[in-house]
Amino acid sequence: MADNARRFCAAAAPRPAETGTRAALLKEFQWEAGERIGVRFLEGDASLHERVRAVAEEWVGPRMANLDLQFLDDGPATVRVAFAPGDGSWSYLGTTAQQIPTDRATMNYGWLTPDSPEDELRRVVLHEFGHALGLIHEHQNPEEPVRWNRAAVIADLSGAPNFWDEATIEHNIFAAYDPEQVIATPVDADSIMMYPIPASWTTDGFSADLNPELSETDTGFIRDAYPW
Ligand SMILES: [Zn+2]
Repeated sequence: MADNARRFCAAAAPRPAETGTRAALLKEFQWEAGERIGVRFLEGDASLHERVRAVAEEWVGPRMANLDLQFLDDGPATVRVAFAPGDGSWSYLGTTAQQIPTDRATMNYGWLTPDSPEDELRRVVLHEFGHALGLIHEHQNPEEPVRWNRAAVIADLSGAPNFWDEATIEHNIFAAYDPEQVIATPVDADSIMMYPIPASWTTDGFSADLNPELSETDTGFIRDAYPW
């Protein structure tokens, strides 16, 4: 799984406005507290569906977000999950999923299979459903920007296994949000929404590890964002 650990999630938004680093949420794309969100799998193995669902549901419930993730076998669903290999892992942010044509996926898991180890599956599914609930990447925090070594980042991400062009790198790594657009906590290096950042990517030695679980900040933040 070492190779997959170097694959980065390209969070998708209908307009290019991603930026930030911490538990942060774009206010514009936030759901209403208590809202029901239909989720449907477009393809894939039933045992994999069950595993993804169990992990995704950790975001909601009495001690977490006041949102109702309704997994549906058929019919209309706002969050539509695909497992297209080679398309990476990504999700639209929050309510932007409502703007996507209904025959298209709003979330993809490009490398999860029924054989994926549980820790790998948890890391990716918690992260992508975080996007689906409106959370942005922790590294795009507008208040305390990461000091990027741009050349090093571009060199790494333009090669295997990501093969991102410069526009994609700009959108997913360097772009910064306007503080007015987000609700954010202080920087949380343990957030599930943090990208793994090698020290070679920054000019001040900052680095972050791959986080496999929801942090305390993630948990408190989602509870406050979607109160009961
Ligand atoms: Zn992401």
